[in-house]
Amino acid sequence: MTRTLKCPNCGCEENRHMATTPECKLGWYRCAGCDMVWNKDYNLREYNEDYFTGCAGDYDDCRMKRVATGMRRVLIARMVSKKGRLLDIGCSMGYFVEAAGKLGYDAEGVEISKYAAEYARKKGLKVNCGDALNLSYPDNTFSVVTYMNSLEHVGDLDKSLSEAYRVLAPGGCVMIVGPNANYWKMLTKQSYHGWEKPDHCVTFTYKFLRNYLTARDFEIVNPPVYSFFRFLLNAIHLDKNVTVLARKKAG
Ligand SMILES: [Zn+2]
Repeated sequence: MTRTLKCPNCGCEENRHMATTPECKLGWYRCAGCDMVWNKDYNLREYNEDYFTGCAGDYDDCRMKRVATGMRRVLIARMVSKKGRLLDIGCSMGYFVEAAGKLGYDAEGVEISKYAAEYARKKGLKVNCGDALNLSYPDNTFSVVTYMNSLEHVGDLDKSLSEAYRVLAPGGCVMIVGPNANYWKMLTKQSYHGWEKPDHCVTFTYKFLRNYLTARDFEIVNPPVYSFFRFLLNAIHLDKNVTVLARKKAG
């Protein structure tokens, strides 16, 4: 159904309201133009100790599993990027920072939650408390910048991605992993964390994210074999997360 609600990305007024589950009262809309899927009821929340140990379950109970997932993703990034300094934006308790460090990257993270940043530092990881919209790093610093299920939380995609672009060295890569709007649970209106959280401002599709990054001077560089595997998974709606790698054009 088309509603008179403008897409925050392209301004198109033609969109579809994605009906919600009884548990999920949020207003998700899908743009007919750029395929952005956004939550009109987005609300920032405080990422305090409660978030990490209470209402969202205890994050660190499955630390090893999360680090292992991180290592698998680092290997994908390694196919298209050089080793060097890596920044994980919205790094939570440092799972991906730990994974990248184990695989030879000079890895660090930035995390808005003081609690999670402090927790990661106690694990011996280099994690600063800071905002994804204002990174405190000089231009052209990192070989790789990553968002592991964090970009959907930031509220202002443009501002955060322009910061990622700024701190990436020319030829460096950004890797984005985030909830997939084409996942079957979302299409069939089942309970799915990707769209049940008011602090998720968007869920992604490959079409949207590729075009969005290309329009911001990134070049899509997903490794071919891996890309084909994800293409198949996405085609049958089993891909929980969209994964896109893109390079900051050199010079
Ligand atoms: Zn749009």
